[in-house]
Amino acid sequence: MHRRGYYTQFGGAYLPEILVATFEALEAAFDQAKADPDFWQTYLKVMTDYSGRPTPLTHAANLTRHFGGAKIYIKREDLNHTGAHKANNVMGQGLLVQRMGKTRVIAETGAGQHGVATATMAARMGFECTIYMGEVDVERQRPNVFWMERLGATVVPVRDGTRTLKDAINEAFRDWVGNMDTTHYVLGTACGPHPFPEMVTYFQSIIGQEARRQILAQEGRLPSRVYACVGGGSNAMGLFSGFLDDPVELVGVEAGGKGLKSGRHASRLKASDASIGVAQGYKTYFLQNDDGQMRETHSIAAGLDYIGVSPILAHFKENGRARFEAATDEEVIAAMSLTMTREGLIPALESAHAFAQAFKEAPAMSPEDILIINQSGRGDKDIFTVADAFGDPAWQAFIRKKAAQYGA
Ligand SMILES: *Cc1c(COP(=O)(O)O)cnc(C)c1O
Repeated sequence: MHRRGYYTQFGGAYLPEILVATFEALEAAFDQAKADPDFWQTYLKVMTDYSGRPTPLTHAANLTRHFGGAKIYIKREDLNHTGAHKANNVMGQGLLVQRMGKTRVIAETGAGQHGVATATMAARMGFECTIYMGEVDVERQRPNVFWMERLGATVVPVRDGTRTLKDAINEAFRDWVGNMDTTHYVLGTACGPHPFPEMVTYFQSIIGQEARRQILAQEGRLPSRVYACVGGGSNAMGLFSGFLDDPVELVGVEAGGKGLKSGRHASRLKASDASIGVAQGYKTYFLQNDDGQMRETHSIAAGLDYIGVSPILAHFKENGRARFEAATDEEVIAAMSLTMTREGLIPALESAHAFAQAFKEAPAMSPEDILIINQSGRGDKDIFTVADAFGDPAWQAFIRKKAAQYGA
């Protein structure tokens, strides 16, 4: 075990012997890529020509007026190809796969968004692609499974255990062990064994680099605070990366679910019922029982419903560089509603957590203060959940009619 990849006590690479050489090769390829100035230029070109970057930094004039405090800006990661910041990570890893001369990518996905992004990258770059998904999630996320398959990926439903994300992760690792020579495992967030937290952060740092440049161009000064939702931590690390050396407060917002006291949440950094442990190859805060069994998590946003969290964010909790908060399902729906009706923007339910926290804090701030909220993705995908939350009767009648038509 080497010290690189540790963030004080967090992170590391707790690997079965058989995977050690593969991780060393990955780390070496990543180091060479980083040292090659052409690599970042190639990455920028792909993100510009294919994914629509740079994404705008939008002044939310109506929300600013509504709250009467800080001046609110929104970083528009929803405008990436496939509708979220996930494109930044998968396209970067795809370029690395090309450098390593591998021909196949695998990934695991819960909500399906990372699966769609990976299948998209594989189609574009000419890789074979297999996506592991718990059988329960396959049922819950039919539209995403449909698109992954149309994009040319093979989707494998995992029938072990609880038939959800953590079982899919185990299956993906099993595949990797059997196919290391040809295959790269595209991890979807700033978690997992080293070098993934560092590597995913590297690609996502494009968010913060752009946001810093844009706010200086538009306002001539830095924001007081920046807000991002925290699932595994990749969009937060991406935004935070641009401001690490500045006097800017970094705020990460987790899924408060039904409330931190209810036990039905997905907060690992703010909640007091999370604890430090080693699982899935790295050390961080997990939602686990006293005997180390992973707990059921809950969030209205599928993408935040995750038991671990980036070891780099765990480190920021410890050294105080970032502040962590949690927004409840109810607060998130209210924030999403306000953002839709005031600005005509439809943030993903995940992103709306960051909005909810910023809205709590903006009124008490001065008009001299600027804050930036990361809109990590677009909310179109959340149509079923949001319609339910708003109790829309016309929509519910429509769904009943469709279900009857298809004999469901
Ligand atoms: C996947 C996802 C997230 C959560 O992932 P992070 O790694 O924490 O960024 C947040 N927002 C959107 C829109 C997502 O699709």
